[in-house]
Amino acid sequence: MNKPVAFHAFKHGLFDITVLSDGPIALAGEIFAPEASDNQRADVVARMDGADNIADAQSNIPLIVTSNDVILVDVGAGSRFQPSEGKLERNLNAVGVNAGDVTKIIISHARPDHIWGMLRDDGSLRFPNARYYITRAEWDFWMGEKADALLEAVQPFVAGARRDLQAIADRLTFVEDGDEVIPGLRILSTPGHTAGHISIVVDGDVPLIITIDATASHIVSFERPDWSFGFDMDPALARTTRRALIEQALRENAVLLGYHWAYPGVGTVRKDGDSFKLRPVTEAQS
Ligand SMILES: [Zn+2]
Repeated sequence: MNKPVAFHAFKHGLFDITVLSDGPIALAGEIFAPEASDNQRADVVARMDGADNIADAQSNIPLIVTSNDVILVDVGAGSRFQPSEGKLERNLNAVGVNAGDVTKIIISHARPDHIWGMLRDDGSLRFPNARYYITRAEWDFWMGEKADALLEAVQPFVAGARRDLQAIADRLTFVEDGDEVIPGLRILSTPGHTAGHISIVVDGDVPLIITIDATASHIVSFERPDWSFGFDMDPALARTTRRALIEQALRENAVLLGYHWAYPGVGTVRKDGDSFKLRPVTEAQS
């Protein structure tokens, strides 16, 4: 069936943004809500249209186009993590952009679902003309002794991060909190999920904050901001970061874009008692 591919696209300030997808990843309920009771977890899974304690996390990857640049935030998992992923390049092509057109890639953090799409199956760089941006904290973590000391079960993640980071070592620019990648597109340090995890703030009438895994779930991260996400490396720091990020979004009336949220992963937040609710944009608004 040749169904036309329709991606959520919108203008934000000077930027044309299209939310692409690398495809979904199936995750157990314990990843979305480790601290939940069985009933609470079943409710979260059901609200994500999951079943049998498994639900899909999406991989929403913003393509940001300006008059000078074609920018991606993260590169998805390629064909290396789960077979349902690896669709980013095909989806990029579907909106008329070739991998070689991409000029800048911001790497939020070096976990498989965000970085393993770096290389094609033949080992060549998928985006050969891009400059890459990552924090030194993230680089140092995966390249250093702390990653060596991680559990045996996650050593394949360490090996994968090293493979992909080494492949871009001569095309890297280290960034930190407040740095502009281009005017109007700023790094916001949001550590906790990983050591050097970053979000991105895009200037417009109100800010657009691309939160990545600092708010990993469109349900749990807002309604239970003190619960962790199963892959948070430092759950206490991730919790502090998540609260601060959501409070900032409220204060600034920001639009949010989440990597793993139900597609297209764009919404606004409101206060709901002691916690929050995410109000997704509708397709009709695009
Ligand atoms: Zn992730």
